Amino acid sequence: MTNQKITQSVVTGGGSGIGYAICKALASLGHKVIVLDLDEAAAAETAEEITREGGVAKAYAVDVANHDNVQQVFAAITADNRAVDVLVNNAGVGSIGTLEQTSEDELDRVYKVNVKGVYNCSLAAVPSMKAQQRGIIINMASVASSVGIADRFAYSMSKGAVLTMTYSIAKDYLDYGIRCNCVAPGRVHTPFVDGYLAKNYPDNQQEMFEKLSKTQPIGRMGKPVEVAALVKFLCSEEAAFITGTNFPIDGGFVTLNN
Ligand code: NAD
Repeated sequence: MTNQKITQSVVTGGGSGIGYAICKALASLGHKVIVLDLDEAAAAETAEEITREGGVAKAYAVDVANHDNVQQVFAAITADNRAVDVLVNNAGVGSIGTLEQTSEDELDRVYKVNVKGVYNCSLAAVPSMKAQQRGIIINMASVASSVGIADRFAYSMSKGAVLTMTYSIAKDYLDYGIRCNCVAPGRVHTPFVDGYLAKNYPDNQQEMFEKLSKTQPIGRMGKPVEVAALVKFLCSEEAAFITGTNFPIDGGFVTLNN
């Protein structure tokens, strides 16, 4: 995206699953990848792997829900007038339960990471994007952003907000050369899913895995690399005409489940 200097891409939740795959995909474009994760060791592992493979990466431990922590880390990332060229707001947490099964604390927990995390990181990244009149923000939405999913009250609340924050940012920063889009995966096989199965179905994980796979009309879960490939495209020059758009990547979940 620039021929003067190496593109700097920040990926939140880059220590695991989809975020890890996105870090690797952006590194393959020659970007300097800044891996942010609550899990310091996981972030460091992703960055070390990229470096071992000849890329450029750096890891920071950050809690995207913590405003001051995010400001500090982005100040370090943008020191010496380095811009954040690409921000991928991927970090997120799951939550199971209906309205009545969701405690106030749980609602706040999910809001703080999945909604406020996007606010915190975008707020910290936008000034350097504005200064250079160029930037790309990709948010990790979900099929839960657009359709009703059983027992996902808090999660759906948060991912609906990710979708509409995407529209809002895309609109407000059009004139600054900032493109903002989101991707909306169906079920993707990551530690997020394995953790959910282990916690909620300890005795029949395999059976539930098959069941969850079949909820995608295409008959399986997505792979992190498939989501990463879409993000990679949206970060490329070929996607220069795309902003304010939600990209489902869900094996037909939203449109073919009838
Ligand atoms: P994952 O649990 O494998 O990875 C998430 C990463 O985010 C972890 O490394 C975790 O440490 C990090 N993280 C969590 N809270 C954080 C915080 N407060 N600050 C910084 N980092 C934090 O999950 P995944 O499946 O790769 O999911 C990534 C994103 O994709 C999430 O936003 C999720 O909601 C979304 N998503 C996942 C699926 C799926 O089926 N896996 C489907 C749709 C959307």
